[in-house]
Amino acid sequence: MIPELLQSQKSYFKTEETKNVAFRKKSLKQLKAELVNQESKIIEALAKDFNKPAFETVLTETSVVLSELDHMIKNLEKWSKPKWVLPSLINFPSTDILYSEPYGQTLIIAPWNYPYQLAMAPLIAAIAAGNTAILKPSELTPHTSALLKQIISHVFKPEHVTVVEGGVDVSTTLLKQRWDYIFFTGSVNVGKIVAKAAAKNLTPVTLELGGKNPCIIDQTANINLTAKRIVWGKFLNAGQTCIAPDYILIHDSIKASFYKAIKIEIENAYSKNPENSKDFCRIVNTKNFKRLTKMLENENCIVGGDINEKSLYISPTVIDEPNLDSEVMKDEIFGPILPVISFKDKTKIETIITSYNKPLSLYIFTTQTNAAKKLIEKFSFGGGCINDTVVHFANHRLPFGGVGNSGIGAYHGKLSFDTFSHKKPVVNKGNWLDLPLRYAPYNGKLNKIKSLLKWL
Ligand code: NAD
Repeated sequence: MIPELLQSQKSYFKTEETKNVAFRKKSLKQLKAELVNQESKIIEALAKDFNKPAFETVLTETSVVLSELDHMIKNLEKWSKPKWVLPSLINFPSTDILYSEPYGQTLIIAPWNYPYQLAMAPLIAAIAAGNTAILKPSELTPHTSALLKQIISHVFKPEHVTVVEGGVDVSTTLLKQRWDYIFFTGSVNVGKIVAKAAAKNLTPVTLELGGKNPCIIDQTANINLTAKRIVWGKFLNAGQTCIAPDYILIHDSIKASFYKAIKIEIENAYSKNPENSKDFCRIVNTKNFKRLTKMLENENCIVGGDINEKSLYISPTVIDEPNLDSEVMKDEIFGPILPVISFKDKTKIETIITSYNKPLSLYIFTTQTNAAKKLIEKFSFGGGCINDTVVHFANHRLPFGGVGNSGIGAYHGKLSFDTFSHKKPVVNKGNWLDLPLRYAPYNGKLNKIKSLLKWL
């Protein structure tokens, strides 16, 4: 079925309907109308999937998608127009033009943690850039996956855009096909599987992956505000956020007051018993619940540490000084567990951060501008914030993506359109002048070309 579906998309692409910018714009507008219509259903689906509060769904899913859609609709004509580029004198006389052309058949594989937004944002860009698309949402959020299928099939013909639901087997079959572009969001391990499958056909990829995101707090940080912003960014989505702070590196002199502050902020946000809070998500499934609770064994939980397997609840938890070889410090945590490690000397920060692969995000809390600048310049990471967490995601003028193991490529805003477009440069040469210098025989021309090239 998948090969036939892809074949139908190939045939449809050949009709060149998707190359028509007015058609693309109309498609995006129709999609927007449907998404606006379905907002309450989207909220309901995410609540069913992992108890995501309506507020968080609006803030981190539906509003992000609508903003990407609006930005795309507003700029599509401008971005898709061929661009005149300053010609090189060596080609004189010429007109140099950069075309944005759709790749063709694109595959988008999405994760479960922001199951709506991380599926729709790349899909919108694929459509805007004039591609056909197959979206494979995560099987771990079945209500959202089913709703995405329903929404997309309502707006698009399957030969243009379609949703294929399923798990690893379906994903594997999809990856066996020949695509013109693959956009994957998920774990590093699966990212490597995707990269390998893409390499077989030299298919370009974007890989939006994860990592162990450090959060550095120095002795000058504003402790109460730091605690508040970390609690928000870490426990949003119950810590199941690729850019959530993974672990804290805090100056020894302020650790005790930070613990006091973070305890207060967790209570302020989720009450004394977060299990009863409507604003706190659940872990997505038993497998992840077990993976996370294993991290709590033998650790000193300064805050939280409460679990309920039946409801897949893990309370917002802060762990004091775990060993670096403990379970919680091995891989990306991806849950509401926050280990805190203190330092006296900055070399410890460097030793720890560089013992992991390049992270997706890095956060620094300090009131010393220079100290922040030095740390930003020292470490390589996907993106980050000074004195906040997660919010760099919210600016569509900033590229969003990883580096090294945390990902390849980036998107959001115009970059999303560019990601799904091949940039095709064309030099249109004038015939009214044809300088003889470049043509063979080259006898006696070497010095002339050298001085000309120097001048150019
Ligand atoms: P995952 O890698 O397990 O799954 C992602 C997608 O890949 C799903 O659709 C799944 O069905 C598919 N898949 C799983 N195993 C596969 C296999 N063996 N072969 C082919 N396809 C397979 O990731 P997840 O658990 O859904 O999401 C969590 C991970 O994603 C975390 O590591 C997180 O950091 C990362 N993430 C990154 C970003 C980002 O923007 N960089 C955003 C969200 C999540």
